[in-house]
Amino acid sequence: SGFVSVIGRSNVGKSTLLNRILGEKLTIISDKPQTTRNKIQLIYTDENMQAIFLDTPGIQTPKNKLGDYMLKVSMSTLNEVDVITYIVDTTEEIGKLDSEIIKKLKLVNTKIILLINKTDKISSDNVNEIVEMYSKVGIFEEIIPISALNGDNVEGYLTSLKNNLPEGPMYYDKDSV
Ligand code: GDP
Repeated sequence: SGFVSVIGRSNVGKSTLLNRILGEKLTIISDKPQTTRNKIQLIYTDENMQAIFLDTPGIQTPKNKLGDYMLKVSMSTLNEVDVITYIVDTTEEIGKLDSEIIKKLKLVNTKIILLINKTDKISSDNVNEIVEMYSKVGIFEEIIPISALNGDNVEGYLTSLKNNLPEGPMYYDKDSV
């Protein structure tokens, strides 16, 4: 169990993914008074693990605030979490922002899971090509194609989280939050 940061540029599907996996399992702990920044924590709990999503935009914040979100994520946050989940959209060219994100990600020591989202929009051949391309970057613990919209392989992401988060007790009592 541990802490996860979900990053990626606007419209790649961050909120769709989190809404899907959290669904009824969603707990929100936000605005801790002692912190200066508003850290929104979304907590996923099942029998096997607890994943605490930090600073996660999109679930309850207005859409327009999400633009270029990643650039506002500090290096310290990226180093503090146990796993970074970086989401890209299969249907878009790799843009300048992604190059900058990757440059940043190369500097952190945290494990990174790459999600290739919106696989429902392209052929499986194309999915394989994209996976191949990103594997050459060489910094991803796992590269997982998903469709956040229809749920394809979202289970695979949860399994990967479980495998990559540290073992240990849950941080929050399920019934007390
Ligand atoms: P965010 O800005 O990264 O949080 O992106 P959103 O979750 O708001 O998604 C942006 C748009 O992409 C929305 O219209 C979603 O319905 C759509 N979307 C998200 N995931 C998928 C997917 O797996 N497949 C398809 N076809 N559309 C998706």
